[in-house]
Amino acid sequence: MQKFDVVVVGAGTGGCTVAKKLSSYGFGVCLVDYKAKGSIGDKVCGDAVGKHHFDDLGLAYPSGDELERLISGVKIYSPDMETIFYIIGEGLHGFMINRRIFGQRLLKDALDAGATLLDSTKVVGPIIEDGYVRGVIAKAIDSNETVELKGEVVVDASGVSSAIRSKLPPQMEIETKIDREDLIIAYREIRKVKETPPEPDLCEIYLNLEAAPGGYYWIFPKSDTTVNVGLGVVVSSLQNPKELLYRYVFQRFHKRFFDDSSPIHGGGGFVPTRRPLGSIVGNGFVVIGDAACHVNPIHGGGIGPSMVGGTIAADVISKVLEESRPSREELWPINVKYMQSYGAKQTSLDVFRIFLQGLTDDLLNYGMKYRLIKDEDVLKVSLGEELHLNITEVTRRIFRGMGRLQFLNRLRRMANLLKEAKAICQDYPVSPEGFPEWRMRVQRVFERAKSLVE
Ligand SMILES: Cc1cc2nc3c(=O)[nH]c(=O)nc-3n(C[C@H](O)[C@H](O)[C@H](O)COP(=O)(O)OP(=O)(O)OC[C@H]3O[C@@H](n4cnc5c(N)ncnc54)[C@H](O)[C@@H]3O)c2cc1C
Repeated sequence: MQKFDVVVVGAGTGGCTVAKKLSSYGFGVCLVDYKAKGSIGDKVCGDAVGKHHFDDLGLAYPSGDELERLISGVKIYSPDMETIFYIIGEGLHGFMINRRIFGQRLLKDALDAGATLLDSTKVVGPIIEDGYVRGVIAKAIDSNETVELKGEVVVDASGVSSAIRSKLPPQMEIETKIDREDLIIAYREIRKVKETPPEPDLCEIYLNLEAAPGGYYWIFPKSDTTVNVGLGVVVSSLQNPKELLYRYVFQRFHKRFFDDSSPIHGGGGFVPTRRPLGSIVGNGFVVIGDAACHVNPIHGGGIGPSMVGGTIAADVISKVLEESRPSREELWPINVKYMQSYGAKQTSLDVFRIFLQGLTDDLLNYGMKYRLIKDEDVLKVSLGEELHLNITEVTRRIFRGMGRLQFLNRLRRMANLLKEAKAICQDYPVSPEGFPEWRMRVQRVFERAKSLVE
């Protein structure tokens, strides 16, 4: 048995962030990952990260081999590709990164700060004593030898697999299961292409419910002759994203662009695209990143939020370990801080996600064509501001003509719910006593959001 102040499960973007911070405060941190050290960070991903995350976290921008391209915004295509939204602005600047090199940088930062890495070691479950998580049970991948790692606090940063969170008893009051409607399964390839996309500093997102039910497909430029191209579908659609990517993207919609292209790497993964878990703390326990559903529900970006969650968690854990026991009550400020910052935006965007997933390609085409939401307002919403609708007399006439006036009403009700969801999160209870009632309030908003879906 080995003892540490904090055991962090998973050396991804969230785990390395929390380990680096806590180690730099002088705590003994063990970072456990089932990957071998040199493969940490090597994850199937869209490889796009917003610049604002680096600014907010005081993290140096990617450079050298870690940086593959500077991005100045996103183009969103309607299903018929007749309308393109240009979402461009300072808030949308970002980087296409080499995921492995970026992950290795974060790992090095954590190790340089003093964290201990136990790589090639799979965590199989929590050690629970007296209602507290006191450590984890792990197995060395090569020898299958069992290791017990004890810690005052265990942080589950194991990504969507949530090695610890999914095995917690109900008394911890942390959700252990994620609905299939709230999970995206995506397949992506890095492809060598013969020509550079026409606007290589813009990431392209294509909405098309036939090709990507409940999700979207993307083409993100990497080098001049490589792109990151992928497609995600909601798990409950039971569709195979690789098959759809080949059928619709390579062989139909973008056949000319992908003719004579070849895959360099392909792979898939899951993304939890829903509001964050209502509570991410328990006695001796914190969960962050994908394991806590800390992902933007609209575009599935989770690198930034995992680092935001890691930073908040480290700051509160360090205070608690200096002053008292890491009980659920003492760790509660992690919930408050996350919800009042990124969590509020994420929760309101989840209302929007549920609404979008319930539309048809026709409604998306018309909604975008008549700019019921303007390009600049999409940018504002993605930055966490209120959703402004652009319903004019002209659009009202057009939608009445289509017999879809009701749709405009539903859109208006959705925009109000989005505001309501955000306000509820900003009113997150300051202690666990208020949690059951708060959870009910959120649940009611989401029941209403689901009732807006046709
Ligand atoms: C196809 C795809 C495209 C994406 N595109 C983007 C994008 O462009 N931009 C963006 O911001 N986000 C994107 N995401 C989401 C992003 O990858 C995640 O949100 C982000 O990596 C979450 O970080 P994390 O630290 O929570 O988890 P991860 O980065 O997944 O790290 C978890 C770590 O835990 C380890 N681990 C897991 N289980 C165990 C265990 N039992 N024992 C020990 N170790 C374990 C894993 O090896 C891994 O190193 C994408 C995801 C997918 C699947």
